[in-house]
Amino acid sequence: MRIVIRGAVQGVGFRPFVYRLAVETRLAGWVKNSPRGVFIETEGEQAALDEFLLRVEREKPLRAFIQSLEYSLLEPTYFNGFEIRESETADAADTLILPDIAVCDACLAEMYDSKDRRYLYPFINCTHCGPRFSIIESLPYDRPNTSMKSFPLCPDCLREYKDPENRRFHAQPVACPACGPELHLWDETGRTIAGRNDAVIETVKFIRQGKIAAVKGLGGFHLICDARNARAVELLRLRKRRDEKPFALMYPSLETVNADCRAAPLEQRLLRSPEAPIVLLERRENAIAQNVAAGNPYLGVMLPSTPLHHLLMKEFGGPVVATSGNLSDEPLCIDEREDLTRLSGIADVFLVHNRPIVRHVDDSIARIVLGRELILRRARGYAPLPLQRDGIRNGVLAVGGQLKNTIALSVGNNIFISQHIGDLENREAIEAFHRVTTDFRQLYPVEPVCVAADMHPDYLSTKAAVDFGVPVVHVQHHYAHVAACMAENEIDGMALGVAWDGTGYGTDGTIWGGEFLLTGISDTSDISDISKPSGFRRAAKFREFRLPGGPSAVREPRRSALGLLYEIFGKDFQTIDDLPPVKAFTSRECRLLCRMLEKEIHSPRTTSAGRLFDAVASLSDLRQKISFEGQAAMDLEFAAMRSDTRETYPFDITNVSDLETGAEIAVVDWATLIHAVIRDVRASVSTADVARKFHNTMSEIILSVARQIGEARVVLTGGCFQNRVLLEETAERLKNAGFHPFWHQRVPPGDGGIALGQIVAAG
Ligand code: ZN
Ligand code: ZN
Ligand code: FE
Repeated sequence: MRIVIRGAVQGVGFRPFVYRLAVETRLAGWVKNSPRGVFIETEGEQAALDEFLLRVEREKPLRAFIQSLEYSLLEPTYFNGFEIRESETADAADTLILPDIAVCDACLAEMYDSKDRRYLYPFINCTHCGPRFSIIESLPYDRPNTSMKSFPLCPDCLREYKDPENRRFHAQPVACPACGPELHLWDETGRTIAGRNDAVIETVKFIRQGKIAAVKGLGGFHLICDARNARAVELLRLRKRRDEKPFALMYPSLETVNADCRAAPLEQRLLRSPEAPIVLLERRENAIAQNVAAGNPYLGVMLPSTPLHHLLMKEFGGPVVATSGNLSDEPLCIDEREDLTRLSGIADVFLVHNRPIVRHVDDSIARIVLGRELILRRARGYAPLPLQRDGIRNGVLAVGGQLKNTIALSVGNNIFISQHIGDLENREAIEAFHRVTTDFRQLYPVEPVCVAADMHPDYLSTKAAVDFGVPVVHVQHHYAHVAACMAENEIDGMALGVAWDGTGYGTDGTIWGGEFLLTGISDTSDISDISKPSGFRRAAKFREFRLPGGPSAVREPRRSALGLLYEIFGKDFQTIDDLPPVKAFTSRECRLLCRMLEKEIHSPRTTSAGRLFDAVASLSDLRQKISFEGQAAMDLEFAAMRSDTRETYPFDITNVSDLETGAEIAVVDWATLIHAVIRDVRASVSTADVARKFHNTMSEIILSVARQIGEARVVLTGGCFQNRVLLEETAERLKNAGFHPFWHQRVPPGDGGIALGQIVAAG
């Protein structure tokens, strides 16, 4: 287990403490100080590692304060005993910008102390906690370079700021009711209805009445309503134009979370961590309105992380929906005046303050899978902390993909990954993309020497890549996924990368998405020639099928199903009108789609695993159309959770010679699989069993290909591996057969991880 801890952890006896704890828990390894934080590597049994992790936080030295703790599980190196290693000395250009940190217990205690001068003050903070990334305008991190510059310190605050003995010594955002930012409650016209603590009390009254409040937080606005009021939630869905995508919840306390959800110790740690992400938890029977996350066995839950959210949640006393303050698919609003325009018609009231937000930072999302953290969205609390990787090229700017875009920049052996930007498909998101790239170039003292971009010629990020005036390296999408996963697991060389997602531009111009890429292939071809793959060989893929209607097939799983049926039955598929996807179209629509497939118009070829999940969701009549990305696959995953069958469907693997490269490639044929699914659907086998058998089969396919390739290390990546059933099932099968599976931990398996992979691959 590699742990990186940042905060007040140096000069407080932290290393001797870690040493003692490691000896007590019988772990081997080392600890060392570096300008980038305290680094720990330990190894031992999983239970001992978990205990170590939980106790590091719980039992840390009195004066130590943890502002960030990230850990991942890597390959064992077989240490002998535990040692304190020599500290690394500071290299001059080491600029580490901390993320925004959840309010600390000491500040909370003061805030609730009626005798304290910051009693109920929603912007209380200290050297240990509070805003960072969202208030920094430029470096060095000093008050005049932050959005606090317009709040001159009062004599009391100034004294604390200058006193080395004080907890607020050089705390840049220090403030109090006399000198700091102020809270206001506005009506929908921007007129102030209440100020200071009355604003909190009045906001809560509105929420109780079923109204929607826009609340300005650290890195943007939340839209908040009563999570137990189905009508308020429905109103929010209507106004936000968000039909079914689950909403995140904020709970007042861990106790209230535990009443509604099952949270294991590692999940509780995450909820209470300084990063304070949204954590996906299994729900219990509870009073949360069904339309918060209909049909979903999980709830996305977070605890309050800013003093303002604490005040609000304490006053309200129950769970609220806390979703990002934007229209569906647009980036977060950060300015209260802009917010008033963009969110008018969505929010009834606006709880705002006058501390400007310098950059947007969404809530992060994480879950625990297979006993490890899996970050699904990396933003507040994590961004812009770097990953370390030796041997990467300095000054590579990676512009990411199209969906769930993030960017990254390499500085020395640090890879700084931006906060989640979003889908580059509307003006606001595109502007946010440009803001973040400009921002990164200003914050870090490295001029890009090369830009890494996706191969897709139409991705906005790819098009923007040429604007930097330096050479552009195009990295194949799925290779970027694999490279990202290998980088964060610190493995090099040969590995079998299983990159499964919805879509990505292949080296042959078709849509890839069910790829088995063998890495560590030395390739002398010119990497600037995008027609030649470099660094990997496509060892296996799914049999291709066509997507009638192209992009609209993404929104309609029934189209993916028709694509498969057409491959199997030809145009006769139209007569199989007992099957759900065929039934879901009128016979006229079927004829039209059939003609499109026959004539190959608007019907791109694909090997996408994500579309196979869609097709099976359609065939088992779980869902024919979706209202958000990944919805059908999620339905299928949740259905599979209700069955424990170990059965699988048959499939075939044949070897052909690749037309493009002439090399041999294994083709996974889904035809017998789909035949078997159809048989089960006709025999009225339960949807849960069909879904489970399909998941089992997909895992078995990975195992079969791994056996055929004979590479021990199997890297599981791509959006499909957000699916817990698939990930767990596959990892288990691989382990049992003596293979060594790797998956994501610190960086999302989906396209949020593409930028990291691009940097590694381009280097
Ligand atoms: Zn504090
Ligand atoms: Zn003050
Ligand atoms: Fe992808």
